[in-house]
Amino acid sequence: MLWDDFLNSLHHDWRGDGTADDRLDNSEWLNQWVNAHRLIVDQSPSPEELESLKRLRSFLHRMVQAFVDHQSPSPEDLVALNNIMGKGAVIRQLSSKDGSYELSYAPVERHWKQIEAEIAASFARLLTEGEASRIRICDNPSCLWVYYDDTRNRSKRYCDDKMCGNLMKVRRFRARKKAESGLPAEER
Ligand SMILES: [Zn+2]
Repeated sequence: MLWDDFLNSLHHDWRGDGTADDRLDNSEWLNQWVNAHRLIVDQSPSPEELESLKRLRSFLHRMVQAFVDHQSPSPEDLVALNNIMGKGAVIRQLSSKDGSYELSYAPVERHWKQIEAEIAASFARLLTEGEASRIRICDNPSCLWVYYDDTRNRSKRYCDDKMCGNLMKVRRFRARKKAESGLPAEER
């Protein structure tokens, strides 16, 4: 989804100490990201537009954290989200294929405020069509990857069981071994 992919542009060294690498600063990455999500924008973001994107990311992350903590975003947060969506108008178009109909929303403008509106709308769509209680932040404290838990029993604790899940298992195992041998547990 657009919203979580955008949040994860702040990438953490999940195998190591969690050092963050901000991929929004990498224009090549940003270009590919825009294309991958079929967004259309005329030019690379100006420094101000980049700052605004990062503010949006912090804002959405705060809302995500609220849901992870079983809280709801404040009314002010909803107003802020609506303001961001309000800066990107869309044209509605109905199409039909094999007897079924689809309503699409084509962006009107090709600037970064429109992209911000699309990102905010993707998050808003999740809240209306998905389940906010399935929003997760990876349990590996070095990772903090944001994802949507679509498992049947809502039990997904890590972004990826083979990667972060295994890594944490190994860390717990080592900590236990150290504790058993009387040495202080590995710092985590
Ligand atoms: Zn992870």
